[in-house]
Amino acid sequence: MKVSILGSTGSIGTQALEVVRDLRGIYDIEVTAVSGNSNIELLEQQIREFKPHFAAVSDEAAAARLKTAVSDTDCRVLSGCEGLCYIAAEAGEDMLLSSIVGFAGLVPTMKAIEAGVDIALANKETLVTAGPLFMNAVEKHGVSLLPVDSEHCAIFQSLKAGSRGELRKILLTASGGPFFGKSRNELKNVRREQALKHPNWSMGAKITIDSATLMNKGLEVLEASHLFGVDIDDIEVVVQRESIIHSMVEFADRSVIAQMSIPSMKHPIQYAFTYPRRLESKDESVDFAKLASLTFAKPDEETFRCLALAKAAGRSGGIMPAVMNAANEVAVADFLADKIGFLDIADMVEEAMGRFNNIENPSMEDIISADAEVREYMHKK
Ligand code: NAD
Ligand code: MG
Repeated sequence: MKVSILGSTGSIGTQALEVVRDLRGIYDIEVTAVSGNSNIELLEQQIREFKPHFAAVSDEAAAARLKTAVSDTDCRVLSGCEGLCYIAAEAGEDMLLSSIVGFAGLVPTMKAIEAGVDIALANKETLVTAGPLFMNAVEKHGVSLLPVDSEHCAIFQSLKAGSRGELRKILLTASGGPFFGKSRNELKNVRREQALKHPNWSMGAKITIDSATLMNKGLEVLEASHLFGVDIDDIEVVVQRESIIHSMVEFADRSVIAQMSIPSMKHPIQYAFTYPRRLESKDESVDFAKLASLTFAKPDEETFRCLALAKAAGRSGGIMPAVMNAANEVAVADFLADKIGFLDIADMVEEAMGRFNNIENPSMEDIISADAEVREYMHKK
């Protein structure tokens, strides 16, 4: 299988390359393209080890430097959004691992779908902002869509135990993040260093902050709703502190099926690469005796308002999820730059959602303009 990786220098991208290494000798998988924003040193190492035919770098100056650095290899270096779209759609691969962070992943991922490339999807923002258009394109072009988000991979696996008509609800698990149990007062002065300390997962900065605000879970509710065609109100978020149960589904007879494994993104990545086969993994087994207990709780949507805001955006539909997402991307970047406080993130998202009028059944152009307008509005404030 030939796979192109959008965002190969990130947390998901580098773990995907570890999976490719782990699978050597037991599964035929070749990396045909890698990409990143600007981390040229790492891209060069990846090009020398995995020998892809293409590399795309969004930053033009960085692309020029990479071109010189790898001029002795057969790898063609492309740049900008065009470069990303090319490696997503036309590099001649079987599968695209879409693991760029944020809205920047939308256009290249859509191009891959339109070119008939199967998608392993880590970038949840694409489904959140353009869910109906994305799912229609998947159906129209007959591509396979394999979720790489751990919860969605768990739901995908659990759903195999019954039929769609028998499904009652999805139980989407959440770790609760670093601030589980804290009050609004305690969260007023938290800084980026504290928010970046996730108890169970090591991930990119944006998703780690989203996990601390519970926006990540909000985005995941919308993601699950589009992926599995389930109403937002039939998706229940359950805090599962140890991140061993990655999500569950409940069927008509009240039987609950869960997928469990240690918290490792290599599981969903490998499952997407080898589906429908299950191959040996280098991950450890769950040691239940050592674990002793699994703890559950209800999420606190009053303190962590981003979860409620994302669900509200999802219920409104239209461009509202794109408005919510763009406002969150700007707010998270501002928080990471120490420009705003932790609780301001939800306030900024709410303010943007109140400010923009919705558009029903938006086109891709409507979604792209909404994203741009929200960013412009937030930067002007
Ligand atoms: P990350 O920040 O570690 O990596 C992001 C990658 O995208 C890097 O390769 C970076 O160079 C590239 N990139 C960023 N902005 C870009 C732009 N404008 N143009 C081109 N390339 C750009 O992020 P991550 O944690 O790997 O997350 C990637 C995606 O996967 C996110 O959508 C996240 O929600 C999702 N996801 C991540 C995890 C995880 O464990 N890290 C789990 C589930 C889902
Ligand atoms: Mg997840």
